[in-house]
Amino acid sequence: MEMPAPDAAILSRKPELVARLGAVLPEDAVITDPAETLAYECDALTAYRCPPLAVVLPATTEEVAATLAICHEMGVPVVPRGSGTSLAGGALPTADSVVLGVARMNAVLETDFENRFVRVQAGRTNLSVTGAVEDEGFFYAPDPSSQLACAISGNIAMNSGGAHCLKYGVTTNNLMGVRMVLMDGTVIDLGGRASRCRGL
Ligand SMILES: Cc1cc2nc3c(=O)[nH]c(=O)nc-3n(C[C@H](O)[C@H](O)[C@H](O)COP(=O)(O)OP(=O)(O)OC[C@H]3O[C@@H](n4cnc5c(N)ncnc54)[C@H](O)[C@@H]3O)c2cc1C
Repeated sequence: MEMPAPDAAILSRKPELVARLGAVLPEDAVITDPAETLAYECDALTAYRCPPLAVVLPATTEEVAATLAICHEMGVPVVPRGSGTSLAGGALPTADSVVLGVARMNAVLETDFENRFVRVQAGRTNLSVTGAVEDEGFFYAPDPSSQLACAISGNIAMNSGGAHCLKYGVTTNNLMGVRMVLMDGTVIDLGGRASRCRGL
């Protein structure tokens, strides 16, 4: 498979793009050094590779929203990335795209043991969700073999599962809701902490 030719107009706007991203994100959250963007050139489907124009590593929903608003306004494609363990090339960038990695978004925001509910940021690894609740006798059931590395956001996008899913279902059966940032930077909540409930 040949990677598509990059959009020359987007490539020419790289300095402006990087400057604008740098104005809304911490300095070390915008990566453009080719030696560093190399780490994001593929996912676990390593047959296909392409270093992106830039990589951003936001730590908050606000930073994600600001990033997407800028890219949307400038017509720059964005490729979201969890931990890059997809075997299907889902996180494979193009040369004119920005990879938005969620690795810094790894906090546990809330635990509600009575209602068997935990709210985590998108980049929290699958196994560390269990790590946050196991002292109380709970575990997060969908368990892909990559659970030590893969992120909850990647699990949601791929509807992942593992051996426990035979009894407890896949990701969709265990997901109550998401806070999602649309490509223009709009933040929306889908679902909630209980069935048929709106708002996180
Ligand atoms: C050794 C190995 C074993 C595996 N075992 C299993 C298994 O047992 N079961 C299984 O189901 N899968 C398995 N996988 C596949 C893979 O681990 C899963 O698909 C996992 O859910 C991917 O998560 P990730 O965080 O690495 O996502 P990534 O690879 O980073 O991304 C996957 C997709 O999700 C999208 N995405 C990521 N984050 C976001 C976001 N914040 N917003 C919007 N889209 C986003 C990406 O754009 C991409 O399309 C395995 C992979 C490996 C390498």
